[in-house]
Amino acid sequence: MWLAHVVCSGRDCFEELEVVVDALDDVDRLGCECGHGFVLLSISEIELV
Ligand SMILES: [Zn+2]
Repeated sequence: MWLAHVVCSGRDCFEELEVVVDALDDVDRLGCECGHGFVLLSISEIELV
């Protein structure tokens, strides 16, 4: 599992999210409400407890 910190790639949109994904590919499938995709800012691995 990964904790991904992403921001919207839209020029006028400042949406910023932290999402937990199983695979890094899942980040690419995320889309912002404004219609743009997200850009990955940082990623960290989460250990399952
Ligand atoms: Zn957006």
